[in-house]
Amino acid sequence: MHSSDDVLTRGAFIDGEWIARSENGGFIESVNPANGRVWAKVPDSGAAEIDAAVQAADRALHHSNWSRLAASERGAMLYRYSQLITERRDEIAAAEVSDAGLTLADARTDVGAAAAWFRYFAGLADKIEGTTVPAKPDWHAYTMREPVGVVGAILPWNAPTLMYSWKVAPALAAGNTIVVKPAELTPISALLLAEIALEAGIPPGVLNVVPGYGNTAGEALVAHPKVAKIAFTGEHRTAQHIAKVAADTLKRLSCECGGKAPHIIMADANLPKAANAAASSAFRRAGQSCALGSRIFVQETVHAEFVDLLAQAAEKIRVGDPLDPDTDVGPQASQAQLSKTLSYVDIAHEEKSDLVFGGRKPDEPALADGFYVLPTLFDNVGNDTRLAQEEVFGPVAAVIPFAGEKDVIEAANNVIYGLTAGLWTRDLGTAHRMGRALKAGSIWTNVYPAVHWSLPYGGVKLSGYGRENGLAVMNEYTSTKTVVVNIEDDDE
Ligand code: NAD
Repeated sequence: MHSSDDVLTRGAFIDGEWIARSENGGFIESVNPANGRVWAKVPDSGAAEIDAAVQAADRALHHSNWSRLAASERGAMLYRYSQLITERRDEIAAAEVSDAGLTLADARTDVGAAAAWFRYFAGLADKIEGTTVPAKPDWHAYTMREPVGVVGAILPWNAPTLMYSWKVAPALAAGNTIVVKPAELTPISALLLAEIALEAGIPPGVLNVVPGYGNTAGEALVAHPKVAKIAFTGEHRTAQHIAKVAADTLKRLSCECGGKAPHIIMADANLPKAANAAASSAFRRAGQSCALGSRIFVQETVHAEFVDLLAQAAEKIRVGDPLDPDTDVGPQASQAQLSKTLSYVDIAHEEKSDLVFGGRKPDEPALADGFYVLPTLFDNVGNDTRLAQEEVFGPVAAVIPFAGEKDVIEAANNVIYGLTAGLWTRDLGTAHRMGRALKAGSIWTNVYPAVHWSLPYGGVKLSGYGRENGLAVMNEYTSTKTVVVNIEDDDE
């Protein structure tokens, strides 16, 4: 890792101000995974900065114009925010490339999607309605949905801008205030987005972004008594720890954790289309996606044919400099992630799975300093192997042959995760039967992935709980108040 003089420096964003240094005086350096060089640094914030941000968010919640804004005005502000994000798309995308190693194309897609998320929730701000309830003839009983309060958002590094929008957009639409702790590997896009929020007119204190490590800043946010809810995305082991810390203050928690998605290819499927989707979902974004279709179950009668098609599809995927427009797949986001990915190649060899392609870093000398690894496929993988069961979070996929529908349902569900599942078939009965039988938060048939701002997204089992996106997420960011007025006429 090298340092250079032109390192971008950004402060934390607390109460509408840029705080250049943290109380401990340290900085977190962000390494560009395409070349291993430090390109940016941010303050190493801890409990003091988190407390300042939470206090600011709490004041904004109770005493600023924010709490008095009409819901439609809040929506208008978020709509303006979405427009400004679109205007600064290239700048945010460039930061994402240097921070996370996403290709420029993927980063631009993510920023475009983030703007769309803000648009959707801008429209929802004034449609968060309660109900009237016919409980008793003399009671006028109704419910109203109130903001939960100060939200703490804890983000992962694999899709920083998108994950920011998944949390900030609904939280603010519902009238909450928020403190965002981006991942230590990828803090810059959230800080850029904070700057844009000010321009959009979002009042100081309503949105705060505090970069820092998980076990210091992150944990301080989870423990803070004035934080009403934590929206977390990351590994399930981190979520398990956070849930224990959050228990002390009984705060609400939603956990969007990892996945090990089955991607099931029935013999009657459109095989070339399924192969393209399977290759894309296993290898694009350098395999760093929670919805990665990394367990590719293929019906025995089309097994050999499908693996050939998969190899042809994967051959077209170009690994290279994420800034090169011809690149499909950039580097792993960090040296640690590269080492983890390569360790699973060794594990798969030890488990006697058959390597079909990849399994190593690319040969090009220009890529030698970056954290690159080739798309990798192992065939004839046992469903009980570590490769088939554990989240690699890199471009290493397993083909697991199966005989029939019943076998594949059992095998697919035999895993600790349950985030997404993919299915390719032309048979409607199979599609709906398996849609019911597969244990995951989202089942995508003849399309993969199918993520959309209007569709609830989240896991079962160790993939977490709570839902993001769509109308469903508003349950996470509002609490229902019941009001009963006795309207009995005292004079009667
Ligand atoms: P991670 O769990 O290591 O870190 C996630 C965040 O938690 C980071 O901001 C980190 O600083 C923070 N954190 C770590 N320890 C903490 C603590 N003790 N207290 C509070 N915060 C703490 O995960 P990651 O490596 O950044 O992200 C990759 C994981 O995220 C993968 O498992 C992936 O599948 C998952 N993911 C899930 C979704 C989804 O929507 N379900 C989306 C993207 C990524």
